[in-house]
Amino acid sequence: MEWDQATCYLNGQWLPLAEARVSVLDRGFIFGDGIYEVVPVDTVDSVRAPFRAVEHFARLSRSMAAVRIDNPHDDSQWLALLSQLIERHPWPRQSVYLQVTRGVAKRDHAFPRGVSPTVFAVSSPWQVIAGEQLEQGVAAVTHADERWLRCDIKSVSLLGNVLMRQFALEHDAAEAILLRNGRLTEGSSANVFVVRAGRLAAPAKDHLILPGITYDAVFDIARAHGLACDVRPLAEAELRAADEIWLSSSGREILPVTRLDGTAVADGRVGPLFRQMHAWFQEAKRSDALLWRERMQQFPRAA
Ligand code: PMP
Repeated sequence: MEWDQATCYLNGQWLPLAEARVSVLDRGFIFGDGIYEVVPVDTVDSVRAPFRAVEHFARLSRSMAAVRIDNPHDDSQWLALLSQLIERHPWPRQSVYLQVTRGVAKRDHAFPRGVSPTVFAVSSPWQVIAGEQLEQGVAAVTHADERWLRCDIKSVSLLGNVLMRQFALEHDAAEAILLRNGRLTEGSSANVFVVRAGRLAAPAKDHLILPGITYDAVFDIARAHGLACDVRPLAEAELRAADEIWLSSSGREILPVTRLDGTAVADGRVGPLFRQMHAWFQEAKRSDALLWRERMQQFPRAA
């Protein structure tokens, strides 16, 4: 099945993706007034399971609260919807996209009254990170972080991120690493970790970065294995002097950066800590998949 043959969920209905329609007055279209989530699904020990699904829905809920959109579903309804999306598609690896906008109303910046949110969800095949990227690492370029000051909200208003990702691609890089006032924030679509002298560091989850689900997973895994971890501001100079730089996101899991602004990161090879973390991460997915299987035995199947 190709991605465009998917069945999607729109406001309580299941329909072919090509037939799904929302009004041009939807505030997602007019104002970027909506929030979203992306949940990765992988087959681990023959179970198709989302990674950290509960955490994704907790963040979805927080994003909605932050922009004052009423959450149209409770956690068990969201989880049931997610499980249906997975089951309706044959792909062993899927990327599930969920979006909630403030709804359809006459154009006016102020919140409309009595409007229901638009809920859209679709799954698509998730591309495996090419082995080459894990073996060689990827290139990144730095860019000034020109986004707004509420990057902790997973908003569909992604123009800043879009422009910066495009900047990276046009500079033969896989990601733009963003700097605000001389400090690392994150990537255009990933969190960023720095390894120096055997310690793993990343900036705190404040309003300047998206609180990544993969970011939390990486720190949880690192701490569980006794790795020294620091959550602290990282100056641009520390980024440039790193032994290793990693990207983390649901779509790319963890990925090593071996070139920054055209210069090798340390010796330009994928670092030993990255290789270790990558292996630990795959183990963590396995335990999470088992939890999902247990949970699914308890949940109703229909959303
Ligand atoms: N930061 C930004 C700006 C992102 O777009 C993403 C991915 N959506 C992340 C960080 C990583 O978040 P997660 O690990 O939850 O995918």
